[in-house]
Amino acid sequence: MSVPTLELNDGHRIPQLGFGVFKVDPAETERIVLDALEAGYRHIDTAAIYGNEQGVGAAIAASGIPREELFITTKLWNDRQAGDDPLAAIDESLDKLGLAQVDLYLTHWPAPANGHFVNAWTKLVEIRDAGKARSIGVSNHLPEHLDAIIEATGVTPAVDQIELHPAYQQREVTSYGARAGIAIEAWGPLGQGKYPLFDEEPVAQAAAAHGKTPAQVVLRWHLQQGYIVFPKSNRLERMRENIDVFDFELTTAQQDAITALERDGRVSAHPSEVN
Ligand code: NAD
Repeated sequence: MSVPTLELNDGHRIPQLGFGVFKVDPAETERIVLDALEAGYRHIDTAAIYGNEQGVGAAIAASGIPREELFITTKLWNDRQAGDDPLAAIDESLDKLGLAQVDLYLTHWPAPANGHFVNAWTKLVEIRDAGKARSIGVSNHLPEHLDAIIEATGVTPAVDQIELHPAYQQREVTSYGARAGIAIEAWGPLGQGKYPLFDEEPVAQAAAAHGKTPAQVVLRWHLQQGYIVFPKSNRLERMRENIDVFDFELTTAQQDAITALERDGRVSAHPSEVN
């Protein structure tokens, strides 16, 4: 299974499809991530707040896969953005992961009411310059937040990781990303199982036409839009299904019909509400 890579604005490359571990039980993370690695995933998306970095690290160590073949992302939680605390937070994450460097480190949310996300970004730049993160980016940042951090530092994030699926496409953020060279990572790419994407007719029709599942069609839509995805599943058969999306292509008409499913269908929190 060969997953294509995309070039980020700092020249480093990222596998376009990975495995997310939000809500993966810390006690089960090592086994589940080992299953994902066995299924062929090489890009893992975790976060300090998920409480399972240690399990991800244990799986990396147990897998014996050379470090350079893996792409590991983690994230700075909102209560660690002030002062020099991000510098301590990355050291704690690296320690739990058992790594000297992550491939990508993100500010998890702007948490605007706290007023520290610009400081957090200046510290992520320091973390990158110290070699503890190869690339740096943000998550859940809206255009106003992106403007503020770029203006303060002159450094454009490599990625913005946002809730995005066919029913909630966040076009203001994606067009900002296209203009500024910020890659878009789509979290909740399957609508977190909360939005009935799989019953939508264009999804079901394309699945029948290609002999694929609705989940595979939705993931394929993301990939053809140019987004980076890391669907989550605890089940090996679904992990295999979700990475088995490189042997077919949606036609332009199928892609467009799925793009027309925009319904402002946000399933999770809004960036201005999370602090
Ligand atoms: P997702 O859209 O990947 O949905 C996961 C759910 O979809 C699973 O629990 C399962 O019930 C279902 N599912 C998975 N594969 C399926 C299949 N083949 N067929 C049918 N159902 C299937 O949602 P997610 O896990 O929230 O998002 C993916 C990743 O994005 C996370 O694991 C995490 O790494 C990241 N994330 C980031 C943020 C953020 O704020 N930055 C927030 C949420 C998630």
